[in-house]
Amino acid sequence: MPNSAPEEFAYCPLCAAPLITKVVGDKPRRVCPDCGYVHYTDPKVGVGVFVVEDDKLLLVQRSVPPQKGKWSVPAGFLDRGEDPKETAVREALEETNLHVAIEELIDVYFNPNAAGPGANIFILYRARLLGGDLQAGDDAAQAGFFCLHDLPEIAFASARDAIQRLRTRNTLA
Ligand SMILES: [Zn+2]
Repeated sequence: MPNSAPEEFAYCPLCAAPLITKVVGDKPRRVCPDCGYVHYTDPKVGVGVFVVEDDKLLLVQRSVPPQKGKWSVPAGFLDRGEDPKETAVREALEETNLHVAIEELIDVYFNPNAAGPGANIFILYRARLLGGDLQAGDDAAQAGFFCLHDLPEIAFASARDAIQRLRTRNTLA
């Protein structure tokens, strides 16, 4: 279970007083005894796009941890104030230089034990290709379309789940 009151948060970001640990609602939290500020350990939210073109899936090879060297769908972190659909479109463009349009939500995945910089919540959309010249960028080492039945090692359980669902659907169709 992630620590809801991490002691490395030592000082109040509003008034600089030393924080104390106190139960707020149902959990211990780091709180400021002077101004009442409460530090909530909000989850990291990742957003990704699943783009299939001619039975081939768009993948990028990760050049940064976690799972460096493995492949995944284009994805990135949600910024505060940003619509997750915009995040998905932006990340696809940054990592593959392709323009995509969001079609539907595939699922929202929960990963409470995401290691280090990983996402605790991952929103995965299906998107269709609009255009652009494929070129890896940002934190992708390579980018390409892969045959669904001959994929490289996939980094995250969420992408593996979506691939499995697509394969099942294609078998049923
Ligand atoms: Zn304070």
